[in-house]
Amino acid sequence: MSETRAFIEDLPKAELHLHLEGTLEPDLKFKLSDRNGIDIPYSSVEEVKASYVFHDLTSFLVGYYDGMSVLIEEQDFYDLAMAYFRKAHSQNIVYAEPFFDPQAHTSRGVPFEAVVTGIHRAQVDAEAELGIKTNLIMCFLRDMSAESAMETLEASLPFRNWIIGVGLDSDERGNPPMKFKDVFARAREEGYHLTMHCDVNQENSVGHIWDAINEIGVERIDHGINSLEDEALIAEIKRRDLALTVCPVSNRYVTGSLTVDEIASMLDKGMRVLINSDDPAYMQAYLNENLVELAEDGNFTREQITQLARNSFLASWTSEEDKGEYLAMVEDYSA
Ligand SMILES: [Zn+2]
Repeated sequence: MSETRAFIEDLPKAELHLHLEGTLEPDLKFKLSDRNGIDIPYSSVEEVKASYVFHDLTSFLVGYYDGMSVLIEEQDFYDLAMAYFRKAHSQNIVYAEPFFDPQAHTSRGVPFEAVVTGIHRAQVDAEAELGIKTNLIMCFLRDMSAESAMETLEASLPFRNWIIGVGLDSDERGNPPMKFKDVFARAREEGYHLTMHCDVNQENSVGHIWDAINEIGVERIDHGINSLEDEALIAEIKRRDLALTVCPVSNRYVTGSLTVDEIASMLDKGMRVLINSDDPAYMQAYLNENLVELAEDGNFTREQITQLARNSFLASWTSEEDKGEYLAMVEDYSA
């Protein structure tokens, strides 16, 4: 094992850009399809595995939404979340703020309550059994209407205490931040934290990031690599201390590169960048694999890797007291 890999594996970390639906491993997908009597076009775990090999966004989305179809009952969402928390724990992730996409389930007739209750039960058990703390972020699907997002926001209000913030994901093309201005304003009034995907190399990426900051008032940006194209934007992101949740392996599917240079540049400029795994079951790379590939490809120093871990906690929405404890863990480890 390389020294870098060993250092990364034992480093305490947080993950803040992780779609729970993107953690559905082939064996669980196969098990749930069997348990729920859902027809999937694969007769073995091996065939499901083979279907997870994709080469572009279109083939990824086919498998991704096909995977959703096996998630029906509250227990399915529990099993999905618990499997991720166990994996995270095995990678020394001590804190996480996972995303979930309620509309991907309510649009199939699954009740909002079943989704959020299953995930919440797993969060409670994961903290008790594994000591991993988590806070849940609800994402709206931006290729659905603003009205649907607002209905979803309203459906979430009885579960307000189980959800720390809202985000925005799925296909950005033709679905800019401003489409959801009213929804995010309402979410802020309800006390939710705000984040939003600003995907890599979209049409008007830089304009979208400006709008997410100035018009929506996001507290974090998911991805946001293209901010580097605009010096004034870099300065504003730093002035507001906005974190960028970057996902190297995910970026490679879009740009052909782990965006090593961009991440190194963000660190150099003192931007609050952190590394995440996005949809790790489909991309076959959880957080440690993302960090190892990035660090080895970019010859990152221990100090750079440690700064990425510090940033993961500093960017989180947990209590100041918890942040202090996590940061102390990082300093103890790196010393
Ligand atoms: Zn994402």
